[in-house]
Amino acid sequence: MVLTFLQPATIAEACFLLAKHGQQAKILAGGTDLLVDMRNGHIKPQVLIDLTRVQELGEIAESEGAISIGSTVTFADLALSKLIQTKLPVLAQAAKVVGSPQIRNRGTIGGNIANASPAADVVPVLVALEGVAVVAKAGGVKEVPLEELITGPYRTALACDELISGVKVKVPQPGTGMSFAKVGRRNSLAISRLNGVCLLKSEGRIIRRVRLVLGSATPTPARFKKVEEYLVGENASAEVFREAGKIAAEYVQQVTGRRASSAYKLPVVENLTTRLLQEAWEKGGSVNE
Ligand SMILES: Cc1cc2nc3c(=O)[nH]c(=O)nc-3n(C[C@H](O)[C@H](O)[C@H](O)COP(=O)(O)OP(=O)(O)OC[C@H]3O[C@@H](n4cnc5c(N)ncnc54)[C@H](O)[C@@H]3O)c2cc1C
Repeated sequence: MVLTFLQPATIAEACFLLAKHGQQAKILAGGTDLLVDMRNGHIKPQVLIDLTRVQELGEIAESEGAISIGSTVTFADLALSKLIQTKLPVLAQAAKVVGSPQIRNRGTIGGNIANASPAADVVPVLVALEGVAVVAKAGGVKEVPLEELITGPYRTALACDELISGVKVKVPQPGTGMSFAKVGRRNSLAISRLNGVCLLKSEGRIIRRVRLVLGSATPTPARFKKVEEYLVGENASAEVFREAGKIAAEYVQQVTGRRASSAYKLPVVENLTTRLLQEAWEKGGSVNE
């Protein structure tokens, strides 16, 4: 049974409460993961610290080539934000395919990161955008790359007195093509069997920079660096993108080992990667320099 429900008004107050209640407390944002876990009896916090009244956590702002997104920004906020639609269209796309309208209205970006599900839809996009979590605790703030913050399926490096106050991502360089796709059992209210995001920048046909992340493919969201390294310097072509797809599938098998789902998943990884690269290439304004 929850004994205490607290609603801080500032980040400093939330951090103070976390420090005070330690292991007994859980942060509540949208509740779309936490309340399910509580109802199933998986966790039994004594204290809930609700972040929804902390106004500074609900903001999206751009400054010096980066966009900061507060941790209680919801999927609906992301999908509707003109700034996100214009500068980070793949993030708006990913937010739009999360759950149902009810989940998108409640679920937050901070919750998606902290829950650390391998099937999260928004997190792979944030990793491709070289996202850094802003982690606050009483008396200090630090920035942690998301690839380091998420340490395993449903595990993070957050201490019990720390909260994510937001995430900062780089705005991709002009001319960067971006693509996102989600594969689920059905079109809406589906957990990703696989999702993926690609950012690709070229000069003429020569590929200069790639960021590729597939979600629900590896235990933690991470850039597919083998694929990225193979592509840089290559001439963009259907053949090169198909080869990159094969490298992605080999990489997933190397990381996860052969599993019952491999017969389905590996060809989907290959095809999805090929498609993401092709789409990103077509969307990018290749620059002749
Ligand atoms: C029906 C349904 C469908 C769903 N579909 C999808 C989907 O398609 N794609 C997808 O990615 N997810 C999906 N989800 C999962 C969920 O909606 C997301 O993971 C969501 O982002 C969680 O955010 P929240 O604000 O609801 O987090 P909460 O449930 O409030 O919290 C989740 C966890 O994160 C911690 N936490 C929350 N905020 C912070 C913070 N700022 N700092 C530190 N810790 C924090 C909490 O203590 C808790 O442990 C679905 C869930 C449901 C119930």
